Amino acid sequence: MILPVYLYGEPVLRKTAVEVDLGDEGLKTFVSDLFDTMYHAEGVGLAAPQVGKSLRVFVVDSTPYKEVYPDHVPFKGAFINPVITDRFGSDMPFSEGCLSLPQISEEVVRKSDIHIEYYDESGVFHDRDIDGILARIIQHEYDHLEGKVFTDSLPQIKKMVLKRKLNDIAAGKVKPAYKTKK
Ligand SMILES: [Zn+2]
Repeated sequence: MILPVYLYGEPVLRKTAVEVDLGDEGLKTFVSDLFDTMYHAEGVGLAAPQVGKSLRVFVVDSTPYKEVYPDHVPFKGAFINPVITDRFGSDMPFSEGCLSLPQISEEVVRKSDIHIEYYDESGVFHDRDIDGILARIIQHEYDHLEGKVFTDSLPQIKKMVLKRKLNDIAAGKVKPAYKTKK
């Protein structure tokens, strides 16, 4: 089921999300709804707060990057109660966008590598190092669980330039092609 995407300005995007009960009967359906919503909006990642649920869950599908980076091995999966235990490697700039911040893209510097522990939607525990574009997407989605959005870490001058665009989104003046709450 496609859910409405919550846009910048919605308080839920600023909350620290809480862990989910792995035995929750609705968890698999919720994860499936997150995937449906992400594909509908043509995103490569979507976190629960972006559909109004302050839960530590996000989904990613890096398949679209296969066209840009032929060597990329696409990954599709759900991350339940994830913990990034380490960020290492080099500082990498990359132009990011976000379904909750339509029509904004800015270069964000993040670490190239992470170590993450998480459960998938079947309750299986995973513990792995991740690099490349997948590490990028995961760090972006993980920020949503911490109540952060990608523009938060931009230099002050960039944030000033973006202020009006962000205010327009918060005021409901920006209408993306996908289903949104406003
Ligand atoms: Zn986002």
